[in-house]
Amino acid sequence: MFLKKLHDLKNSLLFRLTLLYAVAFTVLSTIGFLVFYYRIYSVTMEHLDIELLAESEKYTVLIQDNGLEQALKTIADESELEDPAEDFYRLFNFKGDILFTTDMSAWGTIGKQEILQKLHKEGSTFSIQTLSIGERDDKARMITAIVGPNTVLQIGESLEEVDEYLDIFLQLFSILIVSLIIVSSIIGWLLARRATMDMQAVTETAEEISNGAYDRRVQIKGHLNEIERLGTTFNRMLDRIQSLLKSMKEINDNIAHDLRSPLARIRGIAEMSLLKEKDVEEYKDMAVSTIEECDTLIEMINTMLDITEAEAGVNGDTAEEFELMELIREACELFRPIAEAKKIHLKTRLPESLAVTSNRRKVQRIITNLLENAIKYTPDAGAVTVSATAQNGEVRIEFEDTGIGISQNDLPHIFERFYRCDRSRSQGGTGLGLSLVKAYTESLNGKIEVASSLNQGSRFVLQLVR
Ligand code: ADP
Repeated sequence: MFLKKLHDLKNSLLFRLTLLYAVAFTVLSTIGFLVFYYRIYSVTMEHLDIELLAESEKYTVLIQDNGLEQALKTIADESELEDPAEDFYRLFNFKGDILFTTDMSAWGTIGKQEILQKLHKEGSTFSIQTLSIGERDDKARMITAIVGPNTVLQIGESLEEVDEYLDIFLQLFSILIVSLIIVSSIIGWLLARRATMDMQAVTETAEEISNGAYDRRVQIKGHLNEIERLGTTFNRMLDRIQSLLKSMKEINDNIAHDLRSPLARIRGIAEMSLLKEKDVEEYKDMAVSTIEECDTLIEMINTMLDITEAEAGVNGDTAEEFELMELIREACELFRPIAEAKKIHLKTRLPESLAVTSNRRKVQRIITNLLENAIKYTPDAGAVTVSATAQNGEVRIEFEDTGIGISQNDLPHIFERFYRCDRSRSQGGTGLGLSLVKAYTESLNGKIEVASSLNQGSRFVLQLVR
C-alpha cells in the first residue's frame, strides 16, 4: 500500500515538476556559488601577494639606504613579534648561505637554489608560490625576492587564517543554498500544484462525462494559457459530441416516425396483393407503387446520411475553383421545363461571371433544392427570380418567389428534419430538402436566411464564402 503510494507519487507530474525545479535551482545556485567562492579566493590571494611584495620592497629600500646590517637588525626586531609557526623570514646570499632566519622547525625543508635558478632564468627579481608544508594541513604563500646585491629575502605566511575565513564563507553559503533549495522546492511544488490542479479539473470532468454526464464542462479559470487552451478545446469537443448525440437521437426519432410511413405503405401494397386475385395490370401498378415508395425511402435515407455527415463534419470538403454563375444558369435550365409547365416566369439577375472556391457538389445541391422549392411552392403563373451579387469575399444568392409563403409559426421550423408546413402537404416532398441546405451551407461556413409572407411569397438568401 505504502509502496504503491510512493510509486504513484514518483510518477506524478507534480512530483516530477517539483523535482525538476529543485534540481535546476540547486545546479544553478551551486554554479553561482562556485564562481563567487573562486572570486573571493583569488581576491584574497591577490591581496596577500601585494602585502608580501610590499614587505620585500621595504627591505630592498632599507638595504639600499642603510646597508645590510641595519636591515638584518630591523628584520630580527620585526620577526620577533610574529609566531614562527605562522610566518617565517630568512635572508641568504646567492650561494645559499643563511644571513638571517627565524625558527624554521615548523616549516620543514624549503628549497633555496631551485627558486634562485628560476629567478635567474626568468630574469625576474621576485617569485611568489604556494607551498605545502611537510605534515601540516595548512598551506603557505611564500615570496622569494632579491632585495640587495647578493642578498635574497624569503617571507612565508601560513594560509591557515585565509582558509578559516573561506571556511566561514563556505558554511554561510551552504546554509543559504540549503535554505534556498527548500524554499525553491516549496515554490516549485506550489507552482506545479497550481498547473496540475487545473489539469485535475479537466481529468475530473472527463471522468464525469465518461460516466454519462455529457452536459458537464471544464471550468476555464485562465491561470495558465496551455491549460486554458486545453479546457477550451475539450469543451468544444464536448459540444461537438453532444450535438452528434443529439443528431443521433433525432435520427432515431426520425426512423421511428418518418421512415415508418413509407414502410407501412409498402407493406400495405404487399398485403393487398395477397387479399384477392388481381389481373396482371393491377399487379404491375402495385409493383410500380412499391418501387416508387422504395425510391422515396432510399432517397430519404441517403439525404439523412448526407445531413448527418455534413453536420458531423466527417466528410472533409474538397474545395475547387468553379464558375458559380454557370452552375446557377445550368440549374435554371434544368428546372425551366417544370417552371414552363406551371407557366411560372423564371428570371435570373446574374453577373456575367463569378468564380468561387468551394465544394462544387454541395453548392450545386443547395442551389437545386432552393430552386426546386421556389418553383414547387409557387402556384401557376407566378414568378421566381434568382439573383446573385458579390462583395467583401462573399457571394449572396437570392431565390425569390411569389408563392404560397410560410406562416410566422412555421418559419422557425422549416430547417428541421422532416418538417413540412401543413399547406404544402399536397405537394410531394420528404421535408429533408431545407435540412440538407442548412447542413451543407454551414459546413461550407456560409449562411442561409429566409423572409416570407403568407400568400405573397418567400425570399431565401444564401451567403457563401468566395
Ligand atoms: P419538402 O420536401 O417538403 O419541400 P423542405 O425541407 O425542402 O421539404 O421544406 C420544408 C418545408 O418548408 C416545405 O414542406 C414547405 O412547407 C416549406 N417551404 C420550403 N420552401 C418554400 C418556399 N419557397 N415557399 C413556401 N414554402 C416553402
